[in-house]
Amino acid sequence: MDRTHILTELRESQETFDVLIIGGGATGLGCAVDSATRGYRTVLVERHDFASGTSSRSSKIIHGGLRYLKQANFSLVAEALRERRLLLKNAPDFVHELRYFIPHSDLTSGIVHRCGLGIYQLLAGRNRVGRVTRPSQTEIEESMPGLALTAGAGGLCYSDAQFDDAGLAIGLARTAFAHGATVLNYLSVERLLKERDRTVGAEVLDRETGQRFEIRARVVINASGPFSAAISELDGVKPPALRLSQGAHIVLDREFFPGDTALIAPLADNGRVLLAVPWFGSVVIGPTDTEIATIERNPVPRPEELAALLSSAARFLRRAPRESDVKSMFAGIRPLAGASSGSTATASREHALGVSPSGLVSITGGKWTTYRRMAQDTIDRAAQVGGLRRRRCVTDSLAISTLRAALRDSLSADDPRADERLHPQRRETRADVIVAARFEMARRVEDVLARRSRVLFTDARLAIELAPSVAQILADELGHDSGWIQHELRSFTDLAKSYLPSME
Ligand SMILES: Cc1cc2nc3c(=O)[nH]c(=O)nc-3n(C[C@H](O)[C@H](O)[C@H](O)COP(=O)(O)OP(=O)(O)OC[C@H]3O[C@@H](n4cnc5c(N)ncnc54)[C@H](O)[C@@H]3O)c2cc1C
Repeated sequence: MDRTHILTELRESQETFDVLIIGGGATGLGCAVDSATRGYRTVLVERHDFASGTSSRSSKIIHGGLRYLKQANFSLVAEALRERRLLLKNAPDFVHELRYFIPHSDLTSGIVHRCGLGIYQLLAGRNRVGRVTRPSQTEIEESMPGLALTAGAGGLCYSDAQFDDAGLAIGLARTAFAHGATVLNYLSVERLLKERDRTVGAEVLDRETGQRFEIRARVVINASGPFSAAISELDGVKPPALRLSQGAHIVLDREFFPGDTALIAPLADNGRVLLAVPWFGSVVIGPTDTEIATIERNPVPRPEELAALLSSAARFLRRAPRESDVKSMFAGIRPLAGASSGSTATASREHALGVSPSGLVSITGGKWTTYRRMAQDTIDRAAQVGGLRRRRCVTDSLAISTLRAALRDSLSADDPRADERLHPQRRETRADVIVAARFEMARRVEDVLARRSRVLFTDARLAIELAPSVAQILADELGHDSGWIQHELRSFTDLAKSYLPSME
């Protein structure tokens, strides 16, 4: 995926695409894969990097959504459980099964959890993963030595899955590209093109060069997540009601919660849960659920969210974490479709699909877990709106894979320095950065350290240490000078500091 080459081809082609997708998060990339594999001529544009929005800032779990059972939303749960199985089957490089433990505070909550998990397994049917078990006190202590449980209190174990969200997004971008889609990052939609009141494409801005050009398509899809209202405004329509909720997480050293089991602990307030998920050698704790009014490109956990996460963690962990123990923290924004009042924690996570009078198809909300199904519905609808020949969705058996290992090995054969590590504590090598730049469209230090590798999310201080070598390799690959390196390092360091509670 050579961005310069793809961009030149796109600018020079006078082609009218079948489908133009705005937004390169889970939703847009899922649509690009679905559309391209049906054989539609597809183009996707992302304003920043792929998955730089909510799609790299999730809680990292692939799940049916136990708490939606409380809302009696059985069809949403059953659909997500089916998607969980498909992800485990089709994207094993990024998604794997994980055991979860729900502690209960008393006998009543134990009975409620037992019933809930029974329904969960029933709804899963043939998509079931693992069994529900009641571990003994010794088993709990052995599998989760970091867990603080009051003597005698027990809990239940069940299986769901866990994933590398940004990794899967890059895998989707590669898959869409491999099936003929044009996918580009750092290309922002600035204006929608209209003909006889129909949306027929968009004017885009190349954020690297400042150049603008037009892309024409039979149908345009707005998959810009929390930003979808801004695209609706470009369409000249009043955006549908969309509430925004911020979810923050902190990342701690794995020694706070060793073992391979995740914790899902119900919190007394608001039907929320606290997750502690082992992830890339760390443990991710969150999320919060805070209603917000405005959207930032890089949302940052608020001091009160940090304090709430530390105090919730202290309730469940033997060793209470302090602010200085936080190795990274991040926040994502949930666009909650159609929720007008009440708590955001109980608002529906279902997606909303709509078509404006000009034919702009908008898809918002939903979950990473169900991105494939959302894409299927969206492309079905878009094909109708754009008058495209009907073609069957094939993604339920489509493999989404990373070719990283093979590409890395091929580089190692030619370049004697390819296997040099970037840092003695990390596995990443020069070859990883080169693969990210040449084959995964990484353009900036952040693209490499936040989403091709996840080090910014697991250890922001270490990410700052790695930045100079990454900047140098990227500059060599992309033909930038020392001025670019200096600018990148300043901007990355500022960003990385926002992943830390306070920078000493
Ligand atoms: C805190 C939190 C935790 C979550 N945890 C989980 C979880 O564990 N499991 C799960 O299944 N789901 C989870 N979700 C839900 C899941 O993360 C989201 O459903 C999913 O990431 C949404 O993807 P998206 O593509 O719609 O939005 P985004 O990822 O935000 O993508 C939208 C993209 O559109 C781009 N864009 C905007 N405007 C323009 C423009 N003018 N031109 C071009 N591009 C533009 C943006 O730059 C952005 O990259 C979580 C959500 C949150 C907030």
